[in-house]
Amino acid sequence: MNSHQVQQWMETTLSLIKENETTLSELDQTIGDGDHGVNMVRGFQAVVDEFPNWEQENTSAVMQKIGTTLVSKVGGASGPLFGTGFMRLGAAFKSEEGAWADGLTKAAEGIAQRGKVSVGDATLLDVWDPVAKVVQAKGTDWAEVERAAQDGMNGTKQLETKRGRGALLKERSIGHLDPGAVSSYYLFHALVQTMT
Ligand code: ADP
Ligand code: MG
Ligand code: MG
Repeated sequence: MNSHQVQQWMETTLSLIKENETTLSELDQTIGDGDHGVNMVRGFQAVVDEFPNWEQENTSAVMQKIGTTLVSKVGGASGPLFGTGFMRLGAAFKSEEGAWADGLTKAAEGIAQRGKVSVGDATLLDVWDPVAKVVQAKGTDWAEVERAAQDGMNGTKQLETKRGRGALLKERSIGHLDPGAVSSYYLFHALVQTMT
């Protein structure tokens, strides 16, 4: 992936998130405080706006800058988690060899650590982790990435939310998609569109 493709990836992500901003906030209304759509639009808009300043940077540096921008601009609990994901990806892209498998695996580990969550807690990790695992097992098979991200997102509907505000709802959180898992699906869907 070159830095121009990273830019395309971020622009596609922003447009998907903008189109679905209301849906994301409504999902967060059910299990949280209703700001996830607004948070994500703010964060990815800032990333897209920053790109002209990153023209001289390589893929690795651009990904790390995306990470720090998301940490500072998203505002919600999700910001540092998406930010960690991109910073870990950026570190892995210092070498091209196996960068996706290595980067996604470390991103999922970083999110789990930083969020103090496990797979199955109904968070964005339930999308990032299966995506990392499928790339680890099969390489960058983008159709498989699409399927893993979609299944991970849909799986959060059956799960009880264990972290973040939704955890206060206990079993009442079952039956709702996790908003961070849905926005993570858009992120990986945009990646698949960029790469295919
Ligand atoms: P906030 O909860 O601060 O309002 P957002 O609404 O932007 O932040 O993000 C909510 C999403 O962030 C959740 O749907 C979930 O996916 C994710 N999330 C929140 N806390 C955690 C955590 N501790 N670990 C992993 N993911 C989390
Ligand atoms: Mg929220
Ligand atoms: Mg909030």
